[in-house]
Amino acid sequence: MNSASRPDLVPESPGTGGAAAGRHVRRHNLALVLREVAGGEPVSRAGVAARTGLTRGTVSSLVEELIAGGFLTELAAARGGTGRPANPLQLNRSGPAGLGVEIGVDHVGACVVDLSGAVRAVRTAPSEHRSQPPAAGVARAAELAAEVIAEAGLPVVGAGVALPGVVGPDGVLQRAPNLPRWVDVAVGEQLAQRLGGIPVTPGNEADLAALAELWFGGRPADFLHVSGGIGVGAGIVLGGEPFRGAGGRAGELGHVVVDPDGPACSCGGRGCLEQAAGQEALLRAAGVPDVEQLVAAPPATVLAGAGRALGIALAGAVNLLDVPTVVLGGLYARLGNGLVDAVTAELRARVLSRPPVDVRVSQPGTGGALRAAAAAVVRERLRHP
Ligand SMILES: [Zn+2]
Repeated sequence: MNSASRPDLVPESPGTGGAAAGRHVRRHNLALVLREVAGGEPVSRAGVAARTGLTRGTVSSLVEELIAGGFLTELAAARGGTGRPANPLQLNRSGPAGLGVEIGVDHVGACVVDLSGAVRAVRTAPSEHRSQPPAAGVARAAELAAEVIAEAGLPVVGAGVALPGVVGPDGVLQRAPNLPRWVDVAVGEQLAQRLGGIPVTPGNEADLAALAELWFGGRPADFLHVSGGIGVGAGIVLGGEPFRGAGGRAGELGHVVVDPDGPACSCGGRGCLEQAAGQEALLRAAGVPDVEQLVAAPPATVLAGAGRALGIALAGAVNLLDVPTVVLGGLYARLGNGLVDAVTAELRARVLSRPPVDVRVSQPGTGGALRAAAAAVVRERLRHP
């Protein structure tokens, strides 16, 4: 998904290209009007004209098309003032909606967001995928998706699915270190078949969690987002854009070595971050059976150990990329300030940057990747109405 791409730059004049160029300009202007409404709703037609530089007549014509297409609605006219009352415009909350699906190592999630990005229905459920064939996990995710679609009652035009592994440029889940049976699985195609053919775009969970931070958490343009869970993944955002690497594999922080003589890892390596600060390692170190008990009262020694391992791995990334901010998400967000302090201390000792790296807890929290998967669909629709 190239969901954070810049607005395309298209000349306002159709030039000499004739009808095709005219249509191109109109599509561009439709997107421009939508963007202005989305960025400052409710807004009058005159307000849109003033902000875009388009004539009021052009704006009115474009707005009519966007209303007919279900993208915009008119609110009741404001009272007072002189002259004809203006009906303010806003995004249509009953218009095209996006579905988000998440298939984790041991859970599934689904949510629907409306055109404004607001979550209209969301459900999560335990679903163990380490022992099950991929088809069973996809089927469970599709069931949950059908439930949230029915609950939201909106026209879902597309879906994004967050996956705990490497997603290739063709959308195939190539490999998920914690799901050994999920190798080269066309999750998007399988899910689309089960959802009546709506287009499904797969993405990496950590990348989507980072986008959630960018879109809903008000983050600066450059940061690392580290998701803690059974796997540990990082989303890298540089210049306001996700950085995924040549093959979509960037951000596998969980398999950065923090102890060359440490325990064997699911990836085939040894002493990876995941073995020191992944969910299972933290539960073992704390001597508790589940995450709820861990986050209720995390032992100081566990936070210190996790903070040290995370700090070692992150110091390498920060020294290499010069990002000023590290955001802790997933399980790490739930471990709170104790972990933030431990990571901060380790980074202070290992990173050259000045001022020191800003370490903080995720704003969107644990549901961020799921929400971003859905929001990417409507953001794309708003860019290309
Ligand atoms: Zn590993």
